[in-house]
Amino acid sequence: MNYKIAVVPGDGIGPEVIDQALRVLDRIGEKYNHTFTYTKVLAGGAAIDATGKCLPQETIDVCKASDAVLLGAVGGWKWDNLPGDERPERALLGLRKELGLFANLRPAMLFEELSQACPLKPEIIEGGLDLVVVRELTGGIYFGEKGTKETEMGPAAYDVELYSEEEVRRIAIVAFDMAMKRNKKVTSIDKANVLESSRLWRRVVAEVAKDYPEVELNNLYVDNAAMQMVLNPKQFDVIVTSNIFGDILSDEASQITGSIGMLPSASLAKGNFGMYEPVHGSAPDIAGQNKANPMATILSAAMMLRYTFGLGQEADDIENAVKKVLSDGYRTPDLMANGGKAIGTKEAGELITSAI
Ligand code: NAD
Repeated sequence: MNYKIAVVPGDGIGPEVIDQALRVLDRIGEKYNHTFTYTKVLAGGAAIDATGKCLPQETIDVCKASDAVLLGAVGGWKWDNLPGDERPERALLGLRKELGLFANLRPAMLFEELSQACPLKPEIIEGGLDLVVVRELTGGIYFGEKGTKETEMGPAAYDVELYSEEEVRRIAIVAFDMAMKRNKKVTSIDKANVLESSRLWRRVVAEVAKDYPEVELNNLYVDNAAMQMVLNPKQFDVIVTSNIFGDILSDEASQITGSIGMLPSASLAKGNFGMYEPVHGSAPDIAGQNKANPMATILSAAMMLRYTFGLGQEADDIENAVKKVLSDGYRTPDLMANGGKAIGTKEAGELITSAI
């Protein structure tokens, strides 16, 4: 099978970490007889330098014509003085909009080998941790009507949380499909005791659940969920929630895992199309020094195999290879707090590739 991947290396450490992810994908291709075809395109500061725009039309066209997009990171000091709408980071918003990416997936995976970096007590995270937050990305209060007005209490401002049944249905379907590929448990998080939009959310999620009899559905209020995340995070498999609650909870969940260099993410559109990228930025402070941890990007590539291409076994191989390298004691500088055998970006890529 031939898979077409649009590759956006971007700026700073982006190209370095992307090189290692492609090397890992090539190894998977060789082992399982798949062909991955990469088309490299520009976005962010690199695109501004080459074309004057942070998101050239060619990049959008290539992404749309591909099966998936793999992105490094964009931004850097060089472009920091540009006005807001000309900055490299605008390319990300443009890509989300152009590609119709409405579902954001942020797994929080704690590798046992890195458990010392976790701020929670060892007994809470014993045996590791593996959950994913599915956040609605294009609706809710961040995009609702907003404004200011005079009230009895003086000048005031408002933002409206509005969700259509269709918006909730499509994100719920993403979450249940994902649960079917994982541990078959969905926790839907809302504030249905107070918010009308949450009551609609809860009703539609329950309707979608009927099509997935094998998946267990639980509902939690967001205040309780925030507490449960630190008290007993192992109860979660797939969390599905609105834009604003997901924004907060995915950051809370990611902190449990310790290092930003380990966190992958995906943004999905209708069908299986998705854009995959590490959570971290372009890290200009360490760019070009072979210091960046490529694992977040390599794990993003594993997510691409699992969720867009349906290649679960291949994705497992990559995740197991990362675990093996960690359990053999190798550490990139960001993971060195507790000692280990020091390696750089390229060595990490090499070791993971040879463990597959
Ligand atoms: P950052 O994530 O780039 O870096 C924060 C800190 O984490 C830095 O000390 C960095 O060295 C370290 N770090 C990040 N990734 C690492 C990795 N893989 N291995 C080891 N250490 C790593 O965030 P920032 O410094 O706030 O932003 C830098 C630039 O990146 C800015 O221009 C920002 O706008 C942009 N940014 C882009 C994205 C994206 O492309 N998705 C996301 C966040 C920030």
